[in-house]
Amino acid sequence: MPKLIYLGASSAIPTPQQENTHMVISGETRRVLIDTGHNPLLRLPQAGVDPLQVTDLILTHFHPDHVSGVASLLMNSWLMGRKAELNVYGLAVTLERARKVMEFYDWDTWPHFYPVHFNTLPAVEMTPVLACEEFQIFASPVHHMIPNIGLRVEFKSSGKVWAYSCDTEPCAEVVRLGRGADVLVHEVAGAGLGHSSARQAAEIAQEAGARQLHLIHYPTWNADPQPLVAEAAQVFSGAVDLADDFMVLDF
Ligand SMILES: [Zn+2]
Repeated sequence: MPKLIYLGASSAIPTPQQENTHMVISGETRRVLIDTGHNPLLRLPQAGVDPLQVTDLILTHFHPDHVSGVASLLMNSWLMGRKAELNVYGLAVTLERARKVMEFYDWDTWPHFYPVHFNTLPAVEMTPVLACEEFQIFASPVHHMIPNIGLRVEFKSSGKVWAYSCDTEPCAEVVRLGRGADVLVHEVAGAGLGHSSARQAAEIAQEAGARQLHLIHYPTWNADPQPLVAEAAQVFSGAVDLADDFMVLDF
């Protein structure tokens, strides 16, 4: 049964207990990492996922709390003996910057490097990202300070849906990504430019008709995120939980 594991739930400033927001979908044939945190080679084994078994990497947007671990992932996988290709997906501007970072590291001089394929996603709603026997993933642009995508994952055998707002102000694109979702995980970094409050996340989840709302990308540094649950529950009629590092969802 495919699983989705939150590898980090923190907003930009992490703590020793809570990493920056990123997650992995772990199926029989595909393991899809969504963003990297600082170094996914530390988090993935703790979640029971072999980093060398990661088949796909989706980069949502080029902010450090989401992609600073890209170079570590690529280099460490090579040092661990990776031979299999890795598919990387993202908007054009995101992939261009990821490639530039690797060029700064002179990765073309690293011998016998495994194939890395960059797959550019158009900034168009419900763009198919990848499909396999167990699930299919769609991306839509959301409203952040820089180009960014949210995701919808449809699991075929259970018929369940998980949707992810990524970093965004409240927007109709997330309502459509989360339409009828079993779980909508929405960021709650706080109301303001490019982000949302717990109340706003709850309004989006309510409008989308999601069954459960998970709050993610919440402040953890000198902050208690627990009151965010009550704030969201005032608006959203389904179950509300804080996403947490290493929380496992079965799909
Ligand atoms: Zn961001």
